Amino acid sequence: MSDHEAEQVRRFREALGLPGLVDVHTHFMPERVLRKVWGYFDSLGPLTGGVEWPITYRKAEEERTALLREFGVRAFTAMLYPHKAGMARWLNGWAVDFARRTPDCLHTCTLFPEPGVEAYVREAVEAGARVFKAHVQVGAYDPADELLDGAWGLLAEAGVPVVIHCGSGPAPGKHTGPEPIARVLARHPRLRLVVAHMGMPEYEDFLDLAERYAEVRLDTTMAFTDFSERLAPFPRRALPRLTGLGDRILLGSDFPNIPYPYLHQLGALERLELGDAWLRGVCHDNGARLFGLPTR
Ligand SMILES: [Zn+2]
Repeated sequence: MSDHEAEQVRRFREALGLPGLVDVHTHFMPERVLRKVWGYFDSLGPLTGGVEWPITYRKAEEERTALLREFGVRAFTAMLYPHKAGMARWLNGWAVDFARRTPDCLHTCTLFPEPGVEAYVREAVEAGARVFKAHVQVGAYDPADELLDGAWGLLAEAGVPVVIHCGSGPAPGKHTGPEPIARVLARHPRLRLVVAHMGMPEYEDFLDLAERYAEVRLDTTMAFTDFSERLAPFPRRALPRLTGLGDRILLGSDFPNIPYPYLHQLGALERLELGDAWLRGVCHDNGARLFGLPTR
């Protein structure tokens, strides 16, 4: 299947004249943590909103990276995140090592509201972290928690993007939704937040924030797919706003934890019919610009 799929992804890229894809939302993490995450998906737990979620790419790490390369993904991330205090530093240590052995992975780090967070975020930025991941639902914390204030300030200053799962899909958390993020942005208007999943299901509220703050971006992860359209359809009336924000929407996939083939995310973007220039920006150029990769 994957040979055939890689061929179809290649065709998608070539039709757009793209040298590759930039995927800002892929998951790599220590093996035993990833197994646990897969266990959650298997058990239809709170992470999935009780929806059946078969994982398409349940493979060994080297097979997963090889597959992304076959798809022509020239830069991807290692979205890892702690569910409790005392874990982020350890995850970040693993991520340094992963980035070292995986040159096409943008060195990714994470954080949690805990004493010392500003110090380890500073260390990570100094060590060359290119992107951070924050998961408000799994971490069950208020992103506007004052323990994080220094870290957000530092990341805003350094211009390091933070992919943040802050929407209430597939299941709400105590601090998900646009309101806590609006408080973070009011204090740190230049923070480069990348709202994961287009903010699903609070799409329009997060589009409001992106329109208000020039450094806010959105990733497409799982949005517009058949799977998500069934659970949380993107409102048709908001489609024109995607054109307006065309240079700040970034391809994200959630590979490998997706209940459908990778190609379907690309097809889901294509069928929005927002045009080839829009697709080129989303699937490659916007991410390349954000991370300082050559655009052609
Ligand atoms: Zn994800």
